Amino acid sequence: MKIIVYASALMIVGSCATLSHKEKVQAIKNNITIVSPNNVKTYANTITASELEAHLNNFASDNYEGRQVGSEGQKLAVNYLKDYYISENIATPLEDSSYFQTIPKSYLGEQYNDSENVISYIKGSEKPNEVIIISAHHDHEGIDENGEIYNGADDNGSGTVALLEMAQAFKKAQLEGHGPKRSILFLHLTAEEIGLQGSRYYTQNPAFLLKNTVANLNIDMVGRIDKSHKDTPNYIYLIGSDRLSTELHYISEVVNDTFFNIKLEYKYNEENDRNRYYYRSDHYNFAKHNIPVIFYFNGEHEDYHQTTDTADKINYPLLEKRTRLIFATAWQLANQTKRIVVDKT
Ligand SMILES: [Zn+2]
Repeated sequence: MKIIVYASALMIVGSCATLSHKEKVQAIKNNITIVSPNNVKTYANTITASELEAHLNNFASDNYEGRQVGSEGQKLAVNYLKDYYISENIATPLEDSSYFQTIPKSYLGEQYNDSENVISYIKGSEKPNEVIIISAHHDHEGIDENGEIYNGADDNGSGTVALLEMAQAFKKAQLEGHGPKRSILFLHLTAEEIGLQGSRYYTQNPAFLLKNTVANLNIDMVGRIDKSHKDTPNYIYLIGSDRLSTELHYISEVVNDTFFNIKLEYKYNEENDRNRYYYRSDHYNFAKHNIPVIFYFNGEHEDYHQTTDTADKINYPLLEKRTRLIFATAWQLANQTKRIVVDKT
C-alpha cells in the first residue's frame, strides 16, 4: 500500500513537471514573432523542385568527375557556381571579386592541389555587418579505382543546389524591396570530405568577423530518405540547434510550425549519440567559435558514399520543402529586430 501511494505521488509530480515544461516552451514560442510571413511565403515559393532538379542533374553529372578536392572536375564545379552567381547578379564580398577563396595545397596537404570555397552574398539593408551564413560543401570523393564516378548527388549536391535556389529567392526579395536586414552569406565549402578543411580555413580567414556571424545553417545531404522514414518521408534531422542558443532552437521550430510542419527529428542531436554527427560536418568549425549552428541532414542511406548516389534518386519535392524551411529560418534570423542570443557554452 505504502509503495502504491508513493508511486502515484511520483506520477503526479512527473506529470506536473511535464506540463509546466510544455507551458514554458509554449511561452517562449509565443514570444517569437515571425517577420513578414506573407513575404516569406512568396519568396520561399520561388524555390522549386524543378529548378533544384535542373541544377542537380548538372552538378551531380559525370562532367564533374566526382568533384574531388583540387581535381579538374572540382574546378569545373566551382566555376558552375561562380557563373551562376554572376548570371543572377549576386555579388561576392571578397575583395578581388573572384568568388573564390583559394585554399593552398600547403594547407590541404601536399597530395592535393589548391582548392576553392565559393562565396557570394546578399548585403543586409540595415545591419550589413552582421551575417547569417548558409553553407554546404561541394566536394566529394572523385573516381574509384574501376573508373566509377562518385556523383555525390545527395552528398552534397543536394545542399549545394539548395544554396543556389535560396540565393535566388533572397535576391528576388531584395530587388522587390524586401531584402534581408542582416547580410546572408552563401558559403560553398571545399575539402569537407578530407576533414572539414574548407570550413576551418574559412573561420581562420572569414569574410565577415566571426563575432558578427549570427548563425551558421549548414546543409549536408537533404535530398533523400533514410531507412527508418521509408513510410514517413516528411522529416529532417536537426543537429546542434539548442547547443549554443535556446532562442535559435525555438525560432527554428516556430518557423517550421508556421509554414511547413516537417517532422523535426533530434535523435542525432543527443550528446551521447555515437555517430557524433555534431562534430562531423562543417558547422562544427563555427560552433567551435561559439557561433550557433543548425545542421540539416537526412540521415544515411544505402547509397551514402557509394558511386550509386545519383541525381535520379533524389526526392525533389522533399528537397524543395526542406530548402524552403532553411530559407524561412534564415529569413527570420536575418530580419528579426534583435540578434539571437548565445546563452550556453
Ligand atoms: Zn557530406
